[in-house]
Amino acid sequence: MARIVVAGGAGFLGSHLCDRLVGRGDEVVCVDDLSTGSCSNLAHLDRRARFVLVVADVSREVPVDGPVDAVFHLASPASPPAYLARPLETLAAGSEGTRRLLDLARRSHARFVLASTSEVYGDPEVHPQPETYRGNVDPVGPRSVYDEAKRFAEALTMAARHACGVDVGIARIFNTYGPRLSPGDGRVVSNFCVQALRTEPLTVYGDGTQTRSLCYVDDQVNGLIALLESDVAGPVNIGNPDERTVADLAAAVLSLTGSRSVVEHLPLPPDDPRRRCPDVSRARELLGWEPEVTLDEGLARTVAWFRERLGR
Ligand code: UDP
Repeated sequence: MARIVVAGGAGFLGSHLCDRLVGRGDEVVCVDDLSTGSCSNLAHLDRRARFVLVVADVSREVPVDGPVDAVFHLASPASPPAYLARPLETLAAGSEGTRRLLDLARRSHARFVLASTSEVYGDPEVHPQPETYRGNVDPVGPRSVYDEAKRFAEALTMAARHACGVDVGIARIFNTYGPRLSPGDGRVVSNFCVQALRTEPLTVYGDGTQTRSLCYVDDQVNGLIALLESDVAGPVNIGNPDERTVADLAAAVLSLTGSRSVVEHLPLPPDDPRRRCPDVSRARELLGWEPEVTLDEGLARTVAWFRERLGR
């Protein structure tokens, strides 16, 4: 049993992580400014004695007292429309937020786990992407507010390890989906599920031949916890190498929902990566981790959740 700070714990992924940690008996201090996260993701935890929500923006302050055994940094807008709407806040979360949370970990002799991203690879020229690939990112492109914030966060994390001896782990998280994706957050899985269930057109950007590799949230949480419990600094890719085109994904959601929605093609956003697929050899070897939930199974669970949520 440990006392663990989860920055960004009210978000989609963060709330699942809080659930798992509380469920296994850890005490969780969730720090979130609720800018993209939501209290509704945590409502079921509010009554638990070993859970507390501190509403704060970690790029300004981390108001946590007492002993801390581990710090997770998941605090950042994560969907493209969300980080494009909050460019400066996204850069601050990756820079100042990371610095403050690393400082908490250093003072507390706690392990620090950074939620980095496959976006550090940009629009990759190497496929699938191993951790040794250095990426193809435009430092002044629209997505740079997120990509570069996370790249800087990785650099800061490694510097804290080398200069101050902080015990760190860096996870490069690939596209993750599941229940509690915000219906309006603009990511591909939430958009397609909501559109199919409302019989609205499925908005495929571009011709739909671009690929993503989608990891179910429970698998992602298993990976993050395996990294926490290891002494691996990483970076380590955590994602599911089952690569699909966006058009295939639209077809899968239509078939699962039995929806009569049509597919509508909209312009491809600038700098949208063409292909993305993790090489997970390192996670397999160093963490003994492997994704287990198939896309069909994960999508079925996600659709069931959206059906319930939209029905309310
Ligand atoms: N996408 C799409 N329709 C949507 C939302 C997204 O075709 O309604 C595409 C998007 O252009 C990208 C992929 O789906 O190629 C994944 O987008 P998402 O925003 O989920 O995450 P990203 O991997 O781009 O950060």
